[in-house]
Amino acid sequence: MNSYVVGIDIGGTKLAAVVADKNGNILQKVRKPTEAEKGYQYAVQLLLEMVDQGIHRAGLKRESISGIGVSCGGPLDTKTGVVYSPPNLPGWDAVPLKALIEAEFHIHTVIENDANASALAEWRFGGGRGYNYVLYMTMSTGIGGGIVANGQIYHGANDSAGEVGHQILLPNGPLCGCGKRGCLEALCSGPSIARRAQAAIRKQPNTHILDFTDGSIDHVKSEHVLQAARNGDALAISLMDETAYYMGWGIANLVNILNPEIVLIGTIAVAAGDLLLNPIRRTVADMAMQRPAELVQIMPAQLGDAVGDLAAVSLVIGN
Ligand SMILES: [Zn+2]
Repeated sequence: MNSYVVGIDIGGTKLAAVVADKNGNILQKVRKPTEAEKGYQYAVQLLLEMVDQGIHRAGLKRESISGIGVSCGGPLDTKTGVVYSPPNLPGWDAVPLKALIEAEFHIHTVIENDANASALAEWRFGGGRGYNYVLYMTMSTGIGGGIVANGQIYHGANDSAGEVGHQILLPNGPLCGCGKRGCLEALCSGPSIARRAQAAIRKQPNTHILDFTDGSIDHVKSEHVLQAARNGDALAISLMDETAYYMGWGIANLVNILNPEIVLIGTIAVAAGDLLLNPIRRTVADMAMQRPAELVQIMPAQLGDAVGDLAAVSLVIGN
């Protein structure tokens, strides 16, 4: 009986292959370094072996697997299953990932960008359970997103929807990784918060943020700002409020356009909790249109570190 699935998570530093049942219980997990510099052929061959290892260790056979879900950095084409030069995977240019996996296993394979797959996992297993309209936002080294409507990922015309971090909030603002200026990501990602903090400390050195580092302004990270804010440091609190203000502004735009029931925000928002979420909620209530703003809940994502495994698995459960 083929009541099991395989999930593959392809990151810039780690590869993971998991075997799960159709309730999302992980039975086996195999992890290896990506070693992206060795090229995609090496990584794909390794992945194929890791999948077989996982299936074998779970006491199953290939025939027991009904689908393989792959979560990978974009851009990629979900219809053809081709991956196009993700920034975290140098040398992966036009890799026919779905075809390579299906040629080996003859098992239905679904390729999805990692933010979209994570959104689906939060809808199926996490904070989005029971909702029909879910907006998920990552908030760590970058700001990504995924939109789930009635249990389906909204892809857009060529798999480019959900890039919530690249909405432009300040037309002449800081330079973003995408090459434009003033994107939400250039203001509120972890590295962007750190950059704003470093600039602010140089102007206003009377702060306890440096107590949480080795004393070097260059080593200030977003987590140090959060720790200092929790301890009541005025500059850290103002930096977190500024972050919440930009996030709230961006989310107000998204609430007006998408009318989600719930917005789930990952990593930094999970660590910060209400310290960040309450001012975000106030900003959204002030800035979004009344009808969608009254309905929407803004909550931390729930899956934490498990999201990577469940993201890939959720692509082939229930379809
Ligand atoms: Zn951008």
